[in-house]
Amino acid sequence: MMIIDSHIHCGIQNVDQPYETIRGLLAGAGIDGACLYAPVEDIYDRYDYHFRDNALWAACRQRANRYLLNLQREEREIHAYYFVWNDFRKDELAKGYRGVKWHRHDYEPEYNYDDPRCEAFLQEIYRRRLPIVLEESYGNTLTLIKRIDGRTPVIIPHLGGLNGGFHALFHSGVWNEENVYADTALATRREMAAFLERYGSDRLIFGSDFPFGAPYSELRKVRDLNLAEDEYAKVVGGNILKLIAPQTPR
Ligand SMILES: [Zn+2]
Repeated sequence: MMIIDSHIHCGIQNVDQPYETIRGLLAGAGIDGACLYAPVEDIYDRYDYHFRDNALWAACRQRANRYLLNLQREEREIHAYYFVWNDFRKDELAKGYRGVKWHRHDYEPEYNYDDPRCEAFLQEIYRRRLPIVLEESYGNTLTLIKRIDGRTPVIIPHLGGLNGGFHALFHSGVWNEENVYADTALATRREMAAFLERYGSDRLIFGSDFPFGAPYSELRKVRDLNLAEDEYAKVVGGNILKLIAPQTPR
């Protein structure tokens, strides 16, 4: 059984979360690998709603994403995600990233959904069938899932905890769609159990959201659900490994 932490922030510019720290935490928790995203702090100024992009931020972003890609090339079972911002660099997706991180909370600067580059970026994601980890406001989450319309997998982190809340998402019906998944990071056991009862074990994915959650204790929450062994194996690794397996572009 392979255990993968699907949600870890790793970066060495505006935060101090180097891979060396993460490697130790994973080993201590008996976790075999991880999906790594840059920290938001290296992508845009999350504290400035009116944030205007500039060359310094573009370079910082590039280094942050590239750091993870280099780790992916050196380490077994390390999977780098491309953290997208409003320059929508679709050429970057050709470099071997295994997924895309899309992140914004209310009060953080907004994605330019109407930019033609956004549409072109999405089309390239569909072509490669890259999973998108989507953390956005409730309204933007529903709109983007509708726009994607099943063409690529979408993973909602925290069982929806920061996309409008578990109950709002659960009752919205987004998880009725076969391409929409959830990760367990910082969710409660009760939310995990409710999701499993309604949707089964094929679309729940273990993640810790390090540094906000600890890989060891977040994994223990999943273990405490006392799932059958095959279901446990899917949630802690099998499901995400299927999504990030390299695809032949269409
Ligand atoms: Zn996160």
